[in-house]
Amino acid sequence: MPGYSPQSSQETPDSRPDFRHVKHWVFDLDNTLYRADSGVFARIDARMTEFVAKFLGLEKTAARAVQKTLYRDHGTTLNGLIKEHGIDPEPYLDFVHQIDLTDLNPDGALTFAIERLPGSRHVFTNGCAHHAGRVLARLGLTHLFDDVWDIRDLGFVPKPDAAAYRRIVARGGFAPEKAAMFDDIAHNLVEAHALGMTTVWLNTDAVWGRQGPEIPVASALHIDHETRDLTQFLNRIRI
Ligand SMILES: [Mg+2]
Repeated sequence: MPGYSPQSSQETPDSRPDFRHVKHWVFDLDNTLYRADSGVFARIDARMTEFVAKFLGLEKTAARAVQKTLYRDHGTTLNGLIKEHGIDPEPYLDFVHQIDLTDLNPDGALTFAIERLPGSRHVFTNGCAHHAGRVLARLGLTHLFDDVWDIRDLGFVPKPDAAAYRRIVARGGFAPEKAAMFDDIAHNLVEAHALGMTTVWLNTDAVWGRQGPEIPVASALHIDHETRDLTQFLNRIRI
């Protein structure tokens, strides 16, 4: 066969995703470090609807529609409430994160998978640090992370706004080319990829994961890797 050169049995190519250049590991929190079907984020989402309903004096269905419009137009419901209604973010953050987490349990397999990652490890969330702290404690992951960058650290400018990524890169003091970012929302990887980070999309089959149907699907060009199982993926990569 022209151009065909058989490989010897000793030269098995390593097809595992190559992360040997990565020294900084950046993880989204909700629906990324715990499973999207755990119901945790659904509870936060319901609290957001409740907040919007009380704040604007709307019925639940109408509040839900407003919430989704704010999310679509401003990246997060909170950002929309700040931009369009001038709310104080602190009572909102306090209200929406008052949720039960007792069904989140220590994740030994994920702990082991993250423990082996060399370099610094960070949580990058549009939520608040208090919520992140509670979640990480429930999962048994607290000791594995160097920082939690929350919405306050982002100056209340959330992912997917480019400013949020520039901010965390400056905070971390690292070259984006040496960082990898993991997020369940594909759109949140666009600016990370544009800065030079290696991007991993955690596909949860959720409609919002691809930001559809109202928002155009994030281009696959911004997704370097896709997985449905974070632990399995981390255990498989070359580091
Ligand atoms: Mg998420």
